[in-house]
Amino acid sequence: MAATLEIRNLHASVDGDESLILRGVDLTVKEGEIHALMGPNGSGKSTLANVLMGNPAYEVQAGAVLLDDADVLEMEPDERSRAGLFLAFQYPVAIPGVTVANFLRHAINARMKAEDPESKGISIPKFARMMRQKMTQLHIDHNFAGRYLNEGFSGGEKKRAEVLQMAVLEPRIAVLDETDSGLDIDALRIVADGVNSLTGPSMGALVITHYQRMLNYIKPDFVHVMYDGRLVESGGPELAHELEEKGYEWIREKHEAMTQALV
Ligand code: ADP
Ligand code: MG
Repeated sequence: MAATLEIRNLHASVDGDESLILRGVDLTVKEGEIHALMGPNGSGKSTLANVLMGNPAYEVQAGAVLLDDADVLEMEPDERSRAGLFLAFQYPVAIPGVTVANFLRHAINARMKAEDPESKGISIPKFARMMRQKMTQLHIDHNFAGRYLNEGFSGGEKKRAEVLQMAVLEPRIAVLDETDSGLDIDALRIVADGVNSLTGPSMGALVITHYQRMLNYIKPDFVHVMYDGRLVESGGPELAHELEEKGYEWIREKHEAMTQALV
């Protein structure tokens, strides 16, 4: 059965604050589908990503998140990861003295041990084979595995490490929150190539981005626009182009007209 992430009527706030940031988000992402989530700054896109991954800084006030009918909101962040959810780090940290390969092997072993406490983890030859295969698939230079994680990495190299992590963990649904702080074209391409090459029969993706330019490289099947904590528009790739041309102002106007009609 295709993995399905179902977000139903999700309401969320910052922990310890009643005022809602997410005000009823409905969205379903299936394996094999690429969804783009766009929207003006401050509309709640990163909050959604954080809630999906169980960041304790946020509190769910209502609604549900299901992964294949399992209650994601009841899971700890590491359980979510094991269940097949992946969230690309927005701000990856440097880990001095730990290579990219060691970091990834540790991540795999942690997952194997969580599933089976008796597990001895992945064998070195098997891991090496897997790394070679993934790096080839993603057009990443094999020397990259021996670099110290994020130490002196360029923006593009950080993205490479992130995409490689995604490839190795083989999530069923990946959530990528791209910061609005300018990723250069190389970095955008790395993320986009990774998503394009990994999505397919076995992964679905929710790609969060403020700018249309990311979607020059990732071809979404569906585009959604968040405004004031709700998805107010959904459509195909043409919606992203419409936003590129017209900006977000028409969304604001349309939404405000709708809100007034309700009062
Ligand atoms: P986006 O990613 O669409 O730009 P965010 O989800 O980051 O939007 O933010 C939505 C709103 O919630 C903003 O008004 C922001 O200031 C507020 N917000 C988000 N996270 C926090 C937080 N940890 N503490 C306080 N306010 C927050
Ligand atoms: Mg954001």
